[in-house]
Amino acid sequence: VSTVGLDGDDTLWRNEERFQEAQAFVRDLVASHAPDDFQQRLLATEGRNLRFFGYGVKGFTLSMIETVIEVTDGGIPARQIQRLIELGKEMLEAPVELLPGAGEAVARLAASPLRLLLVTKGDLFDQEERIARSGLADLFDAVEIVSEKDEATYRRVLGRHQVEPPEFLMAGNSVRSDVLPVLAVGGVAALIPYPLLWGLEAAEAPAENGRFLRLQSLAELPDLLGV
Ligand SMILES: [Mg+2]
Repeated sequence: VSTVGLDGDDTLWRNEERFQEAQAFVRDLVASHAPDDFQQRLLATEGRNLRFFGYGVKGFTLSMIETVIEVTDGGIPARQIQRLIELGKEMLEAPVELLPGAGEAVARLAASPLRLLLVTKGDLFDQEERIARSGLADLFDAVEIVSEKDEATYRRVLGRHQVEPPEFLMAGNSVRSDVLPVLAVGGVAALIPYPLLWGLEAAEAPAENGRFLRLQSLAELPDLLGV
């Protein structure tokens, strides 16, 4: 391995909490209207809207508003919609909390001869802010903020950095985004599961083999790579 890619959300810093907290808030807000399957309906709206808004807080905020309008049959007062917009802004301003051991692991990788890339998806502006506030930005050789983590994206990123796929290891918390497409293009993947996972990221993990492994924590990665 000559090049390591690290995921950001729920690999370096906490992310899914802010979405789940917002969902709990919106469920309470429309409690008298909210059907039992509110969560599923919101997830379905988010899935439908990905091709319009992409990943991230802004798309989530619009999907939240759309779902609430649906479940209240248009009865939600404008003032409450305004509250949801504020909620989205609060999510964007939420402090960045690094996961335990993440800072040290990144520092060790950065000090090694390995090339270190941050590969993250979501709203460009939100991700730029979070990277800046994480304090880790200077430790990466390059930051790639992408709109989707699929095979084409990884091929493009590897091509841009002139890395042969077998020399690339991607570490992250999502089987769907950080593991499957990386294996498909011939790279190596390390899954570091996070206790919370967005429903649309759910995917079956392959069996461990020479190119795919599971880690308990990012802190294990430098040892694994001998740096
Ligand atoms: Mg992630």
